[in-house]
Amino acid sequence: MQAIIVCKICALAQYVREPQPDTAAECRRCGSILTQVKVNSLARTAAFSLAALIFYVPANVYPIVRMEFYGAYSESTVWDGCVKLFQDGQWLVAIIVFLASMLIPLFKLLGLGFLVATAKFRSARLRHERTWTYKIINVVGPWAMLDVFLLAVLVALVKLEQLATVLPGPGLLAFTAVVVLTILASASFDPKLIWQDPDAGS
Ligand SMILES: [Zn+2]
Repeated sequence: MQAIIVCKICALAQYVREPQPDTAAECRRCGSILTQVKVNSLARTAAFSLAALIFYVPANVYPIVRMEFYGAYSESTVWDGCVKLFQDGQWLVAIIVFLASMLIPLFKLLGLGFLVATAKFRSARLRHERTWTYKIINVVGPWAMLDVFLLAVLVALVKLEQLATVLPGPGLLAFTAVVVLTILASASFDPKLIWQDPDAGS
């Protein structure tokens, strides 16, 4: 099967044959990748999402940061951090942290699960909505890194000031695993599967 594909980088329109699994079609002029078939897309997306979902539990149950401040020792989970920020009147930051590290990762994983399940059963329903789900998951992707980054900055700043001893807690490792596995999961999903012909062979 042939299709006309316009290169996203150099805008050259060209005929491209449907690539075989595990191969990619390159642009004739600039060499950018035009289209590729992701191998075992559904199984990979499902495996990464499930692993991320498992790590989501310790990421929220265990403290992500441990702090010693003039002899006072404290441990904070993500939720503790949100509550403390809220009590300190930093409600905007509290909401951002809550969304970026608790709600959005969970919604991303549920969204990926929904995409995998509907593509697995070759559902022809809600295709536009599913395409939007995929787009939204890709757009919010980088923002999940936000608070790992913020925490790293915080630890570095506090270390510089010698104010307190800040150590990453076990939850942070799990949290990082959730972020990385979710990125791998959304990168493994092939959006073309949303639009596959329900009657075509696999
Ligand atoms: Zn090109």
